[in-house]
Amino acid sequence: MIDTFPIAFESRMRHSLGTAWDLFASAHEHSSPVAIRINPEKYKTEGPGQRVPWSAHGRYLSERPVFTLDPLLHGGAYYVQEASSMFLEQVFRQIVGPAQPLTLLDLCAAPGGKSTHLLSLVNRESLLVANEVIRSRATILLENIEKWGSNNVVVTNNDPQDFQRLGGFFDIVVVDAPCSGEGLFRKDPQSMKEWSADHVMLCSKRQRRVVSDVWPTLKEDGILIYSTCTYSTLENEENLKWLKSASNVEFLSLRLEDDWGIETIAQDGIIGYRFYPHRVNGEGFFMAVIRKKEKHHQPSIGNLKKTFNTASKKIMEQLDHWIKDDEDFTFIQREHLLQFFSSRHRQAIEYLTRNLRLLSAGTFAATIKHEKLIPEHALALSLHVRQENFAEISLTRTEALQYLRKETLTIALPQRGFALVQYEKLPIGWVNVLQNRLNNLYPAAWRIRMVDR
Ligand code: SAM
Repeated sequence: MIDTFPIAFESRMRHSLGTAWDLFASAHEHSSPVAIRINPEKYKTEGPGQRVPWSAHGRYLSERPVFTLDPLLHGGAYYVQEASSMFLEQVFRQIVGPAQPLTLLDLCAAPGGKSTHLLSLVNRESLLVANEVIRSRATILLENIEKWGSNNVVVTNNDPQDFQRLGGFFDIVVVDAPCSGEGLFRKDPQSMKEWSADHVMLCSKRQRRVVSDVWPTLKEDGILIYSTCTYSTLENEENLKWLKSASNVEFLSLRLEDDWGIETIAQDGIIGYRFYPHRVNGEGFFMAVIRKKEKHHQPSIGNLKKTFNTASKKIMEQLDHWIKDDEDFTFIQREHLLQFFSSRHRQAIEYLTRNLRLLSAGTFAATIKHEKLIPEHALALSLHVRQENFAEISLTRTEALQYLRKETLTIALPQRGFALVQYEKLPIGWVNVLQNRLNNLYPAAWRIRMVDR
């Protein structure tokens, strides 16, 4: 809840909203709606709460639970996401369609809201590159991607201009741009303290730079999805007008239901969609969908030299036992770490590996230690883990939280070896069952510190 808005912000918004200013201001006296997006691959029931109107898997919750203390969140059953930004889904429902395999870039991807959503919207033949320029945030992105469990994804840590090396590579580029965050004032009052007219200007310039940097990597007829969580026209409409003047583009329209409360902006040949908190059940947001009507430079994938070390036959035989054979996977080894991805993406991943800084490609499967395989945490959360080949340990909520705190579990021991621990049938990690104890293999860096009261 907000005491006072920055003066320059208020006077600009009063001017643009007119009589609606009072409604806008009073919306900031209410708390933000709480929403999650369920993972349809992991959450097989309808899920809790009321549907977000523009997203099949978005749900409003009536109150904010302590998410950290819900083991289902750590198992990737859902993602906590602001409802307005789930509008991205409409581009796929109305324009793109589910059939074709796509190559997608989520350029500003951390912490992973749009990327996990994209993975639920495209088919498994598609490949998503989820990128984040800030290293510490890229680590959080990777964590959330691993929880989601999809394999058709590469996580990179690159500056936008690095993507120019690829040539026209992507069918869809999502630029969820760093912005002045005016739409988040209610949810995150700290963002209001950082607001200034100069910062809006700086953001606007940076957004143009970021879009220019990635423009060459979008194919002809490819789609740019540009979004911000701010109202300022400098960061939205003016940037779109700039793009229209600098490039050959077509703005694409989406059908809206009246009761969604989303405002269509159509001026000077641009089209965008704006979300105000007094009109939608969500926070401030802006999105536009733009088709590139220009030729792209062909990527020179050419004859690739061998980029990867594929895993030895012996290791692959062992991994076959751990990983479903629902796809033809390529297994690669980097030092002691084994990863796998669909062989159909092999050439694309080789090309990306040679041009970008990859943090992961597909799913981490195992580490080799003293010639033995130790399963990676990402494999426990993967949609491709062969669950039936591991002992399963079902935990109560209290035990699951002990596990997530990396504490010692005192439960009946199953047969020796690696076992999958589960909460409500959802795998949440590994333990190694020894003769008379369990080793908790939960990643130390992910350990939760909160205590249940
Ligand atoms: N798409 C994310 C999601 O849905 O969870 C939220 C992205 S957030 C609005 C913008 C991201 O852009 C941040 O993670 C930030 O670190 C990143 N960023 C900051 N400066 C950037 C730059 N110059 N180029 C590209 N990304 C940048």
